[in-house]
Amino acid sequence: MRVRNTLLVLLICGTGFAQGEYTAQRRSMVKTQLQNRDIADEATLRALLNVPRHEFVPLAQKPYSYWDRPLPIGEGQTISQPYIVAFMTQALKLKTSHRVLEVGTGSGYQAAVLAKIVDSVYTVEIVEALARTATKRLQRLGYDNVIVKSGDGYHGWTEKGPFDAIMVTAGADSIPEPLVAQLKIGGRMIIPVGPHNGIRQLVLLIKKKNKLIKKNLMAVRFVPFTRSED
Ligand code: SAH
Repeated sequence: MRVRNTLLVLLICGTGFAQGEYTAQRRSMVKTQLQNRDIADEATLRALLNVPRHEFVPLAQKPYSYWDRPLPIGEGQTISQPYIVAFMTQALKLKTSHRVLEVGTGSGYQAAVLAKIVDSVYTVEIVEALARTATKRLQRLGYDNVIVKSGDGYHGWTEKGPFDAIMVTAGADSIPEPLVAQLKIGGRMIIPVGPHNGIRQLVLLIKKKNKLIKKNLMAVRFVPFTRSED
């Protein structure tokens, strides 16, 4: 009995220690990788400080959860480096009332970051297995303002639009027209655009009444935006 109790105490302490360790790593990530660069938006910093990134990566990747790099999440896909997640989030100038569309759910990490800031997040993932895992994970972690759909995000999510902001987290050859159409006037969209498997530009679009403003923000590498056969 005593042995069993001791083991239980050790197990609980061990888990507590790991959580504390992750919290410390996350604080350090926010300071060194984000604040020491050009991330100053309070809501973005708070979101990255609070979302447990280690819960979104496979077991083997957990030790590297808070490193300054992208990580594999299965199905040949990756979760972006924390800095890129923060940079893209900050660029959207989000408000608490916003309704946001993400294309490329992957692990669900970016959706969770957005969900900490805005009212509701709609996210589309083309690989069904990833969509399923992300749905379960987000539910387990209590992100009840995120809705995941499996499908080709090229078409956006018409029934849930228009959106205040759209984020595409896969590298596209060109800007999908349906996404621009589902953006509200005054809305912002961020998307990596460029040649297949090459270096792409992170493009920010701002939709004005009669024009679309385009700004190239930085050169990036992203997994490709794929299309379903339909
Ligand atoms: N935002 C994710 C990482 C995205 S990796 C995260 O935080 O973990 C890019 C994702 O986009 C991959 O999971 C890939 O399967 C998905 N993807 C690629 N093309 C897509 C498309 N046309 N529609 C929806 N998802 C797509």
